Amino acid sequence: MLVNMKEMLKDAELHNYAIGSLNTPNLETLRAVIDAAEELGCPIIINHAQGHDSICDPEYGVVAMEDIAPLMKVFAERAKVPVAMHIDHALDDAFTRRAIRAGFTSIMYDRSTLPLEQNIALTKKFVDDVAPLGITVEGEIGAMPNNMPTCVPGQEASDLSDLSVYYTKPEEAKKFAEETNVDVMTVSIGTVHGMYMAGVKSDLQIDLIKDIRAAVTNENIHLGMHGCSGTEHDQVVAAVNAGIKKINYFTAMDTCVTEAIKDFIKEHEGRPMNYSVLASKIAYEELKKGAKKALSMFMECKR
Ligand SMILES: [Zn+2]
Repeated sequence: MLVNMKEMLKDAELHNYAIGSLNTPNLETLRAVIDAAEELGCPIIINHAQGHDSICDPEYGVVAMEDIAPLMKVFAERAKVPVAMHIDHALDDAFTRRAIRAGFTSIMYDRSTLPLEQNIALTKKFVDDVAPLGITVEGEIGAMPNNMPTCVPGQEASDLSDLSVYYTKPEEAKKFAEETNVDVMTVSIGTVHGMYMAGVKSDLQIDLIKDIRAAVTNENIHLGMHGCSGTEHDQVVAAVNAGIKKINYFTAMDTCVTEAIKDFIKEHEGRPMNYSVLASKIAYEELKKGAKKALSMFMECKR
């Protein structure tokens, strides 16, 4: 069933788990993510990112929002678990207007690269404009670093030598939350969009999450974490326990498919190969496996 993200997150706070927020830029990913959530019986947020939109970069070759949105809606409505349709990292107002017209009920309005005061002013205005329409809003404070495996427009690789420079400050988080009144505040606490630097293990700042949660006294403002791919299992569970209730996850699940397809091609070398089988069977199975692994982890401390 299609539900609003805000309603889902209340249950996540009450029962101490995080809801997976997974990108579904094509049919195989959409099928895999919804089926994974149904098999585990958990709610799910399906994302379309502006960075994934072909309008933003025709060379990137993925489906435009207006093409995938009707499919996302059909899959959400017929799902046996609660599903929210969410826009990931909307970077301009024209895109958010298109998203609302396309049926998205939840939008991440990302102004995190701007100075704090500007981020607050623009995010507050966005909340004031769309809250009366019933749109749930996610904002971000503390610009997260990027290290994407492929060229995603607007997410060029960051300097990853010292992740602490990207951490969200609790006093700034408090100010951002109080002044913008967003529904979800995504914070930077040691994760990286895409992949960690080769050979580097994740080092999530669990105490910082606790400090931010304590500083943000409004219980209707939920904490989000992006860039969960490659993060150590125990750290993810500790982050959920410390207050993170929405987790974005995509790169690890998406990149695993490549290896499975390579193996399949090697195994059947010399024979004609159907693209439809590679996409709808090999890719689907691998994506579902990756989604289930992540969603199980996010639900591990549910009570
Ligand atoms: Zn993100």
